Amino acid sequence: MSDENLTAPYMEVDAELCKGCLMCIGVCPKKVIEQSKKLNSASYHPVYYAGQGCLGCGMCFYACPEPGAIRVVKP
Ligand code: SF4
Ligand code: SF4
Repeated sequence: MSDENLTAPYMEVDAELCKGCLMCIGVCPKKVIEQSKKLNSASYHPVYYAGQGCLGCGMCFYACPEPGAIRVVKP
């Protein structure tokens, strides 16, 4: 992992809290959120961070209707 990755913003999704509504994907300016083919225990397809490119803007966090499902980290 490069130094750039160690300091880059990222987002995390709690797959068990996500309901797969895709609001976050719709608002992300970098399109770095993807939807899993797997189901969580509530039978939703959760989203996940693609792994790079996040700006740390928080748009996904504010768009998400499920409290605690998204965490945005800006090191
Ligand atoms: S913080 Fe911004 S850039 Fe990062 S995943 Fe969320 S909406 Fe996309
Ligand atoms: S907005 Fe929240 S609940 Fe909807 S898909 Fe994204 S993380 Fe899941």
